[in-house]
Amino acid sequence: MAPVYFTPGPAQLYPTVAKHLQNALDKQVFSQSHRSQAFKDLYRRADVALRALFQLPDDYAIYFTGSATEIWERSLQSLTAANTYHLVNGSFSKKYLDHAKWLGRNAKVLQVPFGQGFSLDQIQVPTGTELLAVTQNETSSGVCVPVEDIHTLRERFPEPLISVDIVSGAPYAALDFSKVDMAFFSVQKGFGLPAGLGVWLVNGRSREKAAALEGKQYTGGHYSIHSLQDQYQQFQTPCTPNVLDIYLLTHVVEDMLEKGVDQIRKETETKAQRVYSFLEESARFAPFVQEKAHRSPTVLVADVLDKPAAEVIAKLKAQGLVVGSGYGAHKDTQIRIANFPAVSEEDMNDLLAQLKQV
Ligand SMILES: *Cc1c(COP(=O)(O)O)cnc(C)c1O
Repeated sequence: MAPVYFTPGPAQLYPTVAKHLQNALDKQVFSQSHRSQAFKDLYRRADVALRALFQLPDDYAIYFTGSATEIWERSLQSLTAANTYHLVNGSFSKKYLDHAKWLGRNAKVLQVPFGQGFSLDQIQVPTGTELLAVTQNETSSGVCVPVEDIHTLRERFPEPLISVDIVSGAPYAALDFSKVDMAFFSVQKGFGLPAGLGVWLVNGRSREKAAALEGKQYTGGHYSIHSLQDQYQQFQTPCTPNVLDIYLLTHVVEDMLEKGVDQIRKETETKAQRVYSFLEESARFAPFVQEKAHRSPTVLVADVLDKPAAEVIAKLKAQGLVVGSGYGAHKDTQIRIANFPAVSEEDMNDLLAQLKQV
């Protein structure tokens, strides 16, 4: 039997991917020109599906890039001239900050220790901040920022554009997009697709800021908001995009809509609760994140108490269950379990049964 991947990206493929891929091959989709009407129709269809999935306000545009990493850079280039503010609590939020520093921005940071989240009262965004960067789900540590907290940031700090990394939280995270200005993800995590596509959701306010900076500085070249928007109006892209992933994403999002986002969220919570309860009761494992409100439902991190984490990972692998290792310095002591929609309740029950035995 093929193994099940509980890795936080690349991750288990969504169950319908194989069928859609075969259909695309049969229809020779990947040989069609990206300037053809067929591609425009595909992009339009992706746009309709993603708007429905995220309940996007009408003023949002949807762009495709190569990765989420690229969107870190492009968003800073297109939307900021000087001042950014970053909530950092792990490796991915730190990388957004790194990009701001590399670009010479005056990047301010609120950093909390690995494994902790943010309490709203700690957050003081300085006046003059152009972009506030929030990583909704820190894949490295298994800490999430509850979406209600992100919505509260909008009320407290109306000035900066709020940029939300939803790479490992989407489609679970029920973000109210009217309370942020842009968000982004890549497709190899919660969407269960092959890697190589970034999706950038950008509102009108962000585009106004981008237009104000256009011509005054380098704003990102072919993947600036200006250039992406110019093409998006005709459902086109500045360069030949990852049509394979756009095709698969469109169909998988349609499948998710058919199943119902609420149902996906309910299942995610059920599976997460089962794992966290086990970790709390176990003498050999413990949940790494202490604060319950900050425990991610989509990437669950466990401390392994009685043996090297690599031993647990190897034993599970022998049973056809592939979990992620701890991130960076936590490789020897932690495992990470992705709880994305592609992982079924049965898969998670199988994993729990094995975890009880290792
Ligand atoms: C994986 C990940 C990224 C980077 O995604 P790429 O597709 O590798 O660019 C960014 N942010 C978070 C939270 C991630 O988990």
